Amino acid sequence: MQIFTQIDPLRAYWSQQKTTGKSFGFVPTMGALHEGHLSLIRSSEAECDITICSIFVNPTQFNNPTDLAKYPRPIENDIALLRSNGCDVLFCPPEEEIYQDNPQIHFDVGTLGNSLEGFYRPGHFNGVALIVAKLFNIVRPDRAYFGQKDYQQFLIVNRLVRDLNFNVLLRCIPIQREPDGLAMSSRNSRLSDDQRKKAIAFFHCLKMAQSKLKTGTAFHQIREEARQYCRSHSVKLEYFEMADATSLAIQENPSPNTILLIAGYVGEVRLIDNVMINE
Ligand code: AMP
Repeated sequence: MQIFTQIDPLRAYWSQQKTTGKSFGFVPTMGALHEGHLSLIRSSEAECDITICSIFVNPTQFNNPTDLAKYPRPIENDIALLRSNGCDVLFCPPEEEIYQDNPQIHFDVGTLGNSLEGFYRPGHFNGVALIVAKLFNIVRPDRAYFGQKDYQQFLIVNRLVRDLNFNVLLRCIPIQREPDGLAMSSRNSRLSDDQRKKAIAFFHCLKMAQSKLKTGTAFHQIREEARQYCRSHSVKLEYFEMADATSLAIQENPSPNTILLIAGYVGEVRLIDNVMINE
């Protein structure tokens, strides 16, 4: 696996590979890699000649300085995982290589960026759009792989690609879960044993909603039950919503295209999860 920390040598490598017509698959991450990230890597390997993973803990998408400071950064372990999973290229730039000056361009993502994660994490999607646009211009991939885990992020990147005509095909890869259903996340490593047990509450609420909606229970009742469940398990529910999976418009009545999205805190660790209603 080739490792680049600077933009220019990566661009030279890209040009050299393109002379032989190689296709590039790109997996942008913030590191602390787990099976969820590796499933994206494997999807890229199956479809592209060269798979490039980036590891960059992007400061502009953190609205909480403690979350940024405590974000896990096990780079040696990540490199070993990428090597053993057949990744071809790692791009892991230092912060100053990406943000030489304070960026002056801001993204207003519109209604898609104001609800759910955008509401609870002001500025988050500006930072996401900024780093994804930068990385797409640096890496120039043919395909890019994102996880359904960050579903709103996927929809926003999709808009970014359409609105700014990035020449890249996007793939959305299903959520990888622990055996008990907890969505894999780099932040899970920050949970104590007791918190790890409680963290399953969010997935529990999603599954409970899925089955109760099938029997015709109103969503506001389901949400109330979820609130009580989270309270009794010492988990702080931030939002639990039902939305159209294409527009992310909030729904009170389910349709075949409905997605259920949940977010909250276990201790000081913020977790998100989602399921399609018919999954
Ligand atoms: P992150 O490192 O958290 O920024 O995530 C990098 C990419 O991996 C994003 O596209 C995420 O949606 C995706 N991802 C994170 N967790 C999972 C998971 N459990 N299953 C599938 N993809 C995931």
